[in-house]
Amino acid sequence: MSFSIFWFRRDLRLEDNAGLYQALKNNEVVLPIFIFDTTILNKLVDKSDKRVDFIHQAISSLGQQLQKYGSSLRVYVGEPLEIFKNICDEYKITSVYTNNDYEPDAIIRDDAIQKFLAIENVAFNSYKDQCVFEKHEITKDDGLPYTIFTPYAVKWKKKMNEFYQKSYPTSLYVKHLHQTKPFIIPSLHDIGFKKTELTYLPPAIDEALISKYTDQRNFPAIKGTTQLSVHLRFGTISIRQLLQKAITLNETWLNELIWRDFYMMILFHFPHVVEGAFKSQYNFINWRNNEAEFNAWCEGNTGYPIVDAGMKELNETGFMHNRVRMIVASFLVKHLLIDWRWGEAYFAQKLLDFDLSANNGGWQWAASSGCDAVPYFRIFNPYEQTRKFDSELKYIKKWLPNYDELTYIQPIVEHSFARQRAINTFKTSLSKLN
Ligand code: FAD
Repeated sequence: MSFSIFWFRRDLRLEDNAGLYQALKNNEVVLPIFIFDTTILNKLVDKSDKRVDFIHQAISSLGQQLQKYGSSLRVYVGEPLEIFKNICDEYKITSVYTNNDYEPDAIIRDDAIQKFLAIENVAFNSYKDQCVFEKHEITKDDGLPYTIFTPYAVKWKKKMNEFYQKSYPTSLYVKHLHQTKPFIIPSLHDIGFKKTELTYLPPAIDEALISKYTDQRNFPAIKGTTQLSVHLRFGTISIRQLLQKAITLNETWLNELIWRDFYMMILFHFPHVVEGAFKSQYNFINWRNNEAEFNAWCEGNTGYPIVDAGMKELNETGFMHNRVRMIVASFLVKHLLIDWRWGEAYFAQKLLDFDLSANNGGWQWAASSGCDAVPYFRIFNPYEQTRKFDSELKYIKKWLPNYDELTYIQPIVEHSFARQRAINTFKTSLSKLN
């Protein structure tokens, strides 16, 4: 028997899944697979990684949903190219379907697999699924990619129409799923990881929250943002479903989804951002890179309550409110003059919603080295930020329950001094290049 394969990656859902829809629509028999990619897993130092647990629980749920249709998820562990070699030995397959991934390593991986499959006479079909507009869909009039968000967002909104919001009705073709007895999914232990306290809950869209988003999104003590980022990261929710809600409910929230597209587009066109500054002159900042201060930041012991509360939230939950992400990132880069890549790497290790494009974009924004970043002389004042966004100290006291202004640890560095030192350092480092 010959059949097609659908390869799940950052799209762990059946409904409104572009690649899965195309696979089922165009083929009689489709076998869904997932690969625990050991090239990625081996790099994870912490074997109690909540993201691996999240994926494991999400694919287990996917497997159960597939069983309802008489099918099953075949889960492999290994290097994807090797796995495809084995699949081609074991089965007669005609095509592989999947969804696009824009990260540089993923592009290299997919190219290699596509080349191998071409030799085997197997088609490789990949679709846009994880963002609204990709690659070259939104460009300047001269065809070059945008590097500034506002004109990008204007063009994005102009191009947006019902076609881009439409869901892919996968359920119409579920009869084309390969009918089989259930495959066994390897346990976390089998892949070298441990169970964590994480419980996977399917995504829930809170329309009332999205409607109030504009007024509430900046206050970390209230649940004013959707916390859907982890679901967007692993595709347990469809971006088109969210887009439909954003368009009817709240334009500010729509803009956040556009930021997401923007950073994915930046990573695709400017992959050098993974290694260094978007603006190359910012590769030459004379960082202090004091390790003891970095550790104090990681542990939430800087003596700045809003920074420390944010780091405690991150360390304890794998999440941090966006306003606080901006504050702690700015503090590390400007107040402590520590290379933004150290902070980026720490976030990458801890964030449940870690996404290379958004994380890199956020850090380069804070470090002023990014495409559309805060100017280097605009430095967040953590006290002022607290006064504006956590005036009753509710967020601070949630994550620092024993917080007391009089007895709290001394600041690691004095604000005005640090501010001036950062401005001088950036100015001097940049002027040397002129
Ligand atoms: P909401 O406010 O409800 O927004 C809805 C969705 O829009 C989010 O889930 C997210 O997918 C997207 N979004 C919102 N803001 C941004 C943004 N600035 N850039 C790109 N997409 C955005 N976001 C990540 O998803 N992964 C990361 O690794 C990440 N790292 C960051 C690092 C720094 C230093 C900063 C300043 C921001 C980072 N962000 C990252 C962006 C943002 O903080 C999170 O997306 C947001 O806090 C997630 O919470 P939410 O789901 O409640 O978002």
